Amino acid sequence: MSADVTPIPHEPAEGESDCEHALGHLYEYLDSEMTEDDEHRMRAHVAHCSPCLAELSVEELVKKLVKRSCAEQAPATLRLRIREQITVMRVSG
Ligand SMILES: [Zn+2]
Repeated sequence: MSADVTPIPHEPAEGESDCEHALGHLYEYLDSEMTEDDEHRMRAHVAHCSPCLAELSVEELVKKLVKRSCAEQAPATLRLRIREQITVMRVSG
């Protein structure tokens, strides 16, 4: 099995904001399918963008939990609960 990494465009597409770009590639990041450069770019963005960081945290947690439960997809309720918890953390932090 070849594991070629698909290069991800470094620059956001026309009319796409940095956030849209970052969120559009969340899964590549979480699945480690990004080039090193793009990983850096993603980390640099979420480091100063809390909405994207929250989004990333939600997906990361969902991914972990789903992996543990061996389910194909996280139930929408689980995703919602994690999202709520992170929102609470952000507000009180
Ligand atoms: Zn952002």
